Amino acid sequence: MGRIRILSDAVANKIAAGEVVERPASVVKELLENSLDAGATEFRVEIEAGGRRLIRLSDNGCGMMRDDALLAFERHATSKLADVKDLLSIATLGFRGEALPSIASVSRLLLETRAREEQAGTVVEIAGGKILRCEENAFAPGTTVTVRDLFYNVPARKKFLRSEQTETAHAASLVTHYSLAHPAKTFLLRHNNTDLLDVAPAASLKERVFQIFGSQVLEDLIDLGESWRDLPVPFELDEAPAFRRFRLRGFVSGPQVQKLNRNSVYLFVNGRLIRDRLLLHAISSAYYNLMPPACWPFALLFVDCDAEEVDVNVHPSKTEVRFRHSSMVHDLVRDTIRAALIAEKPVSRIFSAAPPQPGAGLPYSEFSQSLENMAELAPVSGLSHEQTDPALLPEFRLHRPPPSTPRFQFTDAPRTEPEIAPAKLDIPDTHGPLSPGASPELDSLDALSDLRPLGQIHDSFIVAAGRDGLWIVDQHVAHERILFEKVLAARGAGCIETQRLLIPAILALTPAQQIEYARIADELDSVGFETEPFGNRTIAVKAAPAELAASDVEKVLLEILEISERELRKTSLDDLRRGIAASIACRAAIKINTRLEPPKIDWLLRALAATSCPMSCPHGRPIALRYSTRDILRSFHRI
Ligand code: ADP
Ligand code: MG
Repeated sequence: MGRIRILSDAVANKIAAGEVVERPASVVKELLENSLDAGATEFRVEIEAGGRRLIRLSDNGCGMMRDDALLAFERHATSKLADVKDLLSIATLGFRGEALPSIASVSRLLLETRAREEQAGTVVEIAGGKILRCEENAFAPGTTVTVRDLFYNVPARKKFLRSEQTETAHAASLVTHYSLAHPAKTFLLRHNNTDLLDVAPAASLKERVFQIFGSQVLEDLIDLGESWRDLPVPFELDEAPAFRRFRLRGFVSGPQVQKLNRNSVYLFVNGRLIRDRLLLHAISSAYYNLMPPACWPFALLFVDCDAEEVDVNVHPSKTEVRFRHSSMVHDLVRDTIRAALIAEKPVSRIFSAAPPQPGAGLPYSEFSQSLENMAELAPVSGLSHEQTDPALLPEFRLHRPPPSTPRFQFTDAPRTEPEIAPAKLDIPDTHGPLSPGASPELDSLDALSDLRPLGQIHDSFIVAAGRDGLWIVDQHVAHERILFEKVLAARGAGCIETQRLLIPAILALTPAQQIEYARIADELDSVGFETEPFGNRTIAVKAAPAELAASDVEKVLLEILEISERELRKTSLDDLRRGIAASIACRAAIKINTRLEPPKIDWLLRALAATSCPMSCPHGRPIALRYSTRDILRSFHRI
């Protein structure tokens, strides 16, 4: 007798459930997607014990007819697809017909539903995939699905669940993000009888962002508005439109918000929450040269396009998509974000000695506050003794860079915030009020244009007085930014200044460098390096960009080859150009520990103000810090 057997349905269902239902949050996701597909406008999610004990979702959607209520638990039973052709243009979130049977096979599930057009509702009770009860009952139209004891019959999967807080945070993250995708709808999320999220219909995405994250986060965000790109499509006989439009809306944070993981990047494609490497790459390219490479911003992006332009049937949990015209989408995202960042020119602040505001540096919104509080709750006995893994908690907070990021501090200002806000001092009038108009708060680097230089600290940092406070500019990174833009602009216009080297530099290359060299030789040439092969794996450099000192030419070339090999092999020509310009700029820029004469300082500040992106150097470090007048007043207890 052979060894191969066909698995019973019950086992097969559990295997599939393993893919679709990985944790409580997956159940929440599937139920929410069903409710959204059912056209609901009100969603009430209740969770107990991180979703292990109970997950309940009630909606006011179209409900199910009596016969459908049972059919819904058959595998591959769906109302959303009729035939294979429909798979090419899926407009609903669900389509596989797998979620309900999968969830029902690993839990005790109760479905209560009533279709609008029917008088009575239907109750279906299932445990471990077995139907226990199916009867009529009276309900309001809509659907409530209650999932109890998740994985009670799959101990192996139960073992992989994390702590109650972590599981709740994942589930909360899902509800929150679907609520962002549907600002006009009502969402309530309750955990162990505490409301974690309770949002009424909002007029706009911005208002919903405010409801969820609060005003402080909103201040750190840049509204991308709505941009689009059209893809021309050939006319077909039955007058198809002449183009397909790709739209992008959303919010991103400025380069000052730097996060160490991608947990704050939320991507939606046609209303579906997804993970997508292509879009992540587009985002990091947008921040390339504005933020250090390992950092991520906060981003909430909605891409909308024709359903035929995107294949959603890529993965069982439907979190991955494939675009038919991926570079179009990539470039739309990258260029829109980059343009918005450059237009905004946000400024890095010097650490403020202001009395602490409630919750400053801690949660920004009530929502994250409740998550935070929850994390402090003792685990419910018998349920969770594991450690919370903070790295796995989805983040809702925007963190300013840690105070150590600005490499300079005013020693007089207390670095750690006092525990009790100092009482406001009664300042005698002789101290004089500040002249009117002395503290306009400009939160953008536009204020750089009329700085008055005061001097240099450590021959490295320029100190200057501005309309809105005291500024400190890192002379090396400032010059780096100026040169970077100059090199890029000259390259773009094809008018690079070069210098002949008196003696050609001879460079011996490793085999890997040789390959990179062959790949980018033309680009090197366009940027001003005149090179030619000189024997086996050796090149001669006869001319170099004018900015570079002859002694630096070799170093810069090797660096460019290294960057090109390490990071840029897969990325675009545009990124390669930026990488090359950044290397040249870094080598050629004024070093720190260099005394500068006043006219040179003047020139540097003016040239910096004229750059398109004076907030950070090509490697993503901040260039200018401001100690705002308001912070100065606060530090002297004048306000
Ligand atoms: P899919 O969503 O892929 O179709 P599911 O197993 O999630 O598969 O759901 C099966 C079917 O049950 C759906 O196609 C839909 O007709 C019905 N259904 C599920 N949830 C709801 C709901 N909340 N309201 C109305 N109908 C629902
Ligand atoms: Mg579904």
